[in-house]
Amino acid sequence: MKDKENKPIRIEDDLYGYVNNEWISKAVIPSDLPVTGGFIEIMLDIEKTLMADFDSFAKGEKKCELAPMNNAILLYKKAMDVEAREKDGMNPLLPLLEKIKNIKNLNEFNESILDLYMDRVHFPFKIDVLEDVRDTSKQALSIFDAETIIPDKGMYDKALVRIMILKIYKKMASSILALSPLSKKEQKQYLKDTIKFDDLIRRKVLSPTEQADYVKLFNPMMLEDVNNKLNPFDLKGLLLKIYKDNTPQEINVCNPRYVNGFNEILNDETFELFIHWSYVNTILDFAPALSKTISDLSNMYGNKLMGVKENPTIEKQAYRLVSNLFDNPIGVYYGRTYFGEEAKANITDIVKKIIATYIDRVKNNAFLEAATKEKAILKLEAMKVKMGYPDNYDKFFDSLVVDEDDSFFDAMNKIRKAKLEYDLDKFNHPTDFSKWSMPGHMVNACYDPFKNDITFPAAILQKPFYSLDQSLEENLGGIGAVIGHEISHAFDNNGSHFDEKGNLVDWWLPEDFKKFEELTEEMVKQYDGIIYHGAKVNGKLVVSENIADNGGMAVTLQIMQGLENPKYDLYFTNWARIWRQKAKENYIKLLMKLDVHSPNELRANITVRNFSKWYETFNVKETDKMFIEEAKRITIW
Ligand SMILES: [Zn+2]
Repeated sequence: MKDKENKPIRIEDDLYGYVNNEWISKAVIPSDLPVTGGFIEIMLDIEKTLMADFDSFAKGEKKCELAPMNNAILLYKKAMDVEAREKDGMNPLLPLLEKIKNIKNLNEFNESILDLYMDRVHFPFKIDVLEDVRDTSKQALSIFDAETIIPDKGMYDKALVRIMILKIYKKMASSILALSPLSKKEQKQYLKDTIKFDDLIRRKVLSPTEQADYVKLFNPMMLEDVNNKLNPFDLKGLLLKIYKDNTPQEINVCNPRYVNGFNEILNDETFELFIHWSYVNTILDFAPALSKTISDLSNMYGNKLMGVKENPTIEKQAYRLVSNLFDNPIGVYYGRTYFGEEAKANITDIVKKIIATYIDRVKNNAFLEAATKEKAILKLEAMKVKMGYPDNYDKFFDSLVVDEDDSFFDAMNKIRKAKLEYDLDKFNHPTDFSKWSMPGHMVNACYDPFKNDITFPAAILQKPFYSLDQSLEENLGGIGAVIGHEISHAFDNNGSHFDEKGNLVDWWLPEDFKKFEELTEEMVKQYDGIIYHGAKVNGKLVVSENIADNGGMAVTLQIMQGLENPKYDLYFTNWARIWRQKAKENYIKLLMKLDVHSPNELRANITVRNFSKWYETFNVKETDKMFIEEAKRITIW
């Protein structure tokens, strides 16, 4: 392996470069994506497979036994009918736009608030139904900030950055507004007002670091009080119309600063700004359901921000859209068709072994007292494991029927409306713990702190993460460490506040928690301020993921210890391999502002430095770049 100056890379100096540079030198970032790498290569592979299946279904060459898949295929065909979509242009949306434009004041808005909400007109906040963290068997309503044009509020403070990004946004939005029925003069005014209203919002919203602190997002307030703060906006009226007798008396306010200052955002004086902002954003929300021209234009902004050169082909767009809307049944189809029972059994064994080892590690943990350990073990024993794909698809998808005669827009609109109704209706029922957070064809994995479950879709259970043909060491350095990572989220700076049922409960002895917080602080410092591609790592933003990487490595290295003649080099090199990535500069910098994960290269290279096995395996010495002194090495779990 050679570096940029063509000097050989030593593994002791750069594990990631040593393992991946050859791949990086050859890898090509697809023109419609900002990045490629371990996860993306698998994603593209799955996409190819499923698109071929979709085509066979669409041509009637194959029949699918999963009922919702047939509706998905019908929608797929409609999405690809570019001619019909172009002919319709923005027309299907005009009645709704006209309705928004004609609203004269907040009173009028409040009078039709339910219709506007169900028609998915853009509101100055979002409502979501999630587990009530005081008792996760119940669902609760939460109110979230509206989204800002620039995804990180900190970027607004840098004048040059702000001006540059807003310029890209204006170019995109004005090109779409040019296709609307607004006059030239109105187009200009609407866009100007949109930026002005956005400027009011961005002053109150949460920063990415604030959003990454789950406990602070929990602020239950009486609905009456929240309504007074939003007044004259009639939130209570809306909820009464949706939930009638079952309207909650309380609502969770994720960001009290936003709700407390809501009057400064929306009042009689700013009403016109709001309506123009809502008009523009409603078009953007609906863009994927309109013509391909409008949909492509709307992607221009995001593409530019991430450094993406062109839009995906219409086939890919159609596939991605449908695989998003029908995610659960498509995941079941993918799992049943492409994921073997043998692999499922084997991987389930690995997970059980990792949980058992985790329990063992907690028992032997040096900084916890017995009472805290007992609770931690209870949480691990209660953790639910979802591997591969659900046995059956979610019955809700049977209700998403696509009518042969519907236009693409109408079909999309019906589906999205049904999804909105379904999501709102969750509040009327107890929590369904059998629901999967990720579909089977998604290349990812997750831990849900409110359900205390981990999900490993079939899609990620492939090379280089996992394969029956790989050595156990490689599988442990790959999927093993990722499984350990997800389990560790139960005990990261967020997860540690929730108990075995996902309830927000203080289950720690106070002195133990203090020690944990000290370790968390050390982890913040280990990454904070590292310069990567010219940007600084925000240690606080990425701390939960770094704790999880650290725990994932600790538990899998312990399993390695129990193997006969374990080959640690295979473990560490495959760990580095799963993180290989090549990305556009813009994308790297944007992610460093928003993403709770550290850049892949740092995840690969920093995590290992905390473990003595790394030093032993490759004889890493003080003079090597991948060395940190023993006193600075951290293991938490
Ligand atoms: Zn994670």
